[in-house]
Amino acid sequence: MKKSFLIASGNKHKIQEIQKILFASDWEVLSGLDLNLPEVEEDQDSLEGNSLKKAKTVALATGEATIADDTGLFVEALEGRPGIYAARYAGERCNFADNRKKLLAELKDVQTRNAYFATVITFCNPKGEKICSCQGVMKGEIAIKEVGNRGFGYDNIFVPQGYTKTLGEMSEEIKNEISHRGKALKKIFPEIKKYFKQ
Ligand code: IMP
Repeated sequence: MKKSFLIASGNKHKIQEIQKILFASDWEVLSGLDLNLPEVEEDQDSLEGNSLKKAKTVALATGEATIADDTGLFVEALEGRPGIYAARYAGERCNFADNRKKLLAELKDVQTRNAYFATVITFCNPKGEKICSCQGVMKGEIAIKEVGNRGFGYDNIFVPQGYTKTLGEMSEEIKNEISHRGKALKKIFPEIKKYFKQ
């Protein structure tokens, strides 16, 4: 079987992270940067539901085995918000900076800043059938202010547990080692390999 699969995303940072973690020279890994992928509305009520919807829709549209991830940021003091709505926290047409600004404003004067990222990655075959899905979690705290200019999304306001720096100050290698997405990918890659050995 041809060892190729598609990442159902057009987010350059995310695709780079995934390609680095999954890198193996005899694999062809395509993404939304190489192909025109259908827009998939993330309207399900869980990370599992959204990642399955994305993987299934893109696999059916392209005829390629596909992985899709969905990530949420869950903040204890905000009863889990922004949760699965992390991408549109500050409104429909907001950007990463708007979301960070809103979150920092909501946590102004809040002492307990515990939070975690969770990612679910789903792998579908070219017929859009789910082969498996895996979850990864990274615990930490929301910083008082933005620090660092690496990464994307909430990286420069998230300090992982056991560290004093934000993800925005860390190298890609360290982030991939400890991150929610890195952990989920490390779990799912053996399943992808198994699928291609059938
Ligand atoms: P998505 O559904 O996987 O695109 O993730 C939703 C939102 O969570 C994104 O728009 C980002 O703001 C944020 N996010 C996802 N992954 C990360 C990450 O690794 N670091 C920081 N923010 C992230």
